Amino acid sequence: MTTQQDRPTASSAEVHILFNGYVGDETESPVGDSRSLVGSTVSFVREGDIRVIIDPGMVPHPNAILEPLAALGESPETITDVVFSHHHPDHILNAALFPNARFHDHWAIYQGDIWDSRRAEGYALSPSIRLIETPGHTPQDITTLVGTSDGIIAFTHLWWTSTGPEEDPFSNDLPALHANRQRVLRIATRIVPGHGAPFTPDESTPR
Ligand SMILES: [Zn+2]
Ligand SMILES: [Zn+2]
Repeated sequence: MTTQQDRPTASSAEVHILFNGYVGDETESPVGDSRSLVGSTVSFVREGDIRVIIDPGMVPHPNAILEPLAALGESPETITDVVFSHHHPDHILNAALFPNARFHDHWAIYQGDIWDSRRAEGYALSPSIRLIETPGHTPQDITTLVGTSDGIIAFTHLWWTSTGPEEDPFSNDLPALHANRQRVLRIATRIVPGHGAPFTPDESTPR
């Protein structure tokens, strides 16, 4: 797959970060091995009639997603599409907030009781919004590439934050993780990681 083929065909989408995620230190758990504070970075992208939420996962309260969305003139009902970067619940937990959406993962689109199988690789939600398959954190990982007037933004769990981790402790396939980071870095001008604020990749970015 060449960089040119990965590129969305347009650059007219608008991007907003609704919630900046995080991963806190582990502490002792009364019920299991450990517990920690986990927040998903939740994003909103719109182009034409398409309105996309990426990773409506763990946040302190649903309003952490809904209030910034309302400030953009949107509501849960106006969302047409939700993208799951992968299948971990910290990125899925609040999906049911959006009653009219199609839900996208690596191998299907889900809506109501319809399971529509398709590969995510190269799938375009709109001219500026494209999915590519980027396994590494899990086998089901996808990256959303969005063309904007400021360049191509990649929404991805290949990085948790701007600093990595260098070697993802949950990865089942580190060579794939590193290869797919390289693939994304060849095209993206900005990265929106799974649990942190957006960053502009540079020499210090783990790859
Ligand atoms: Zn995960
Ligand atoms: Zn995560």
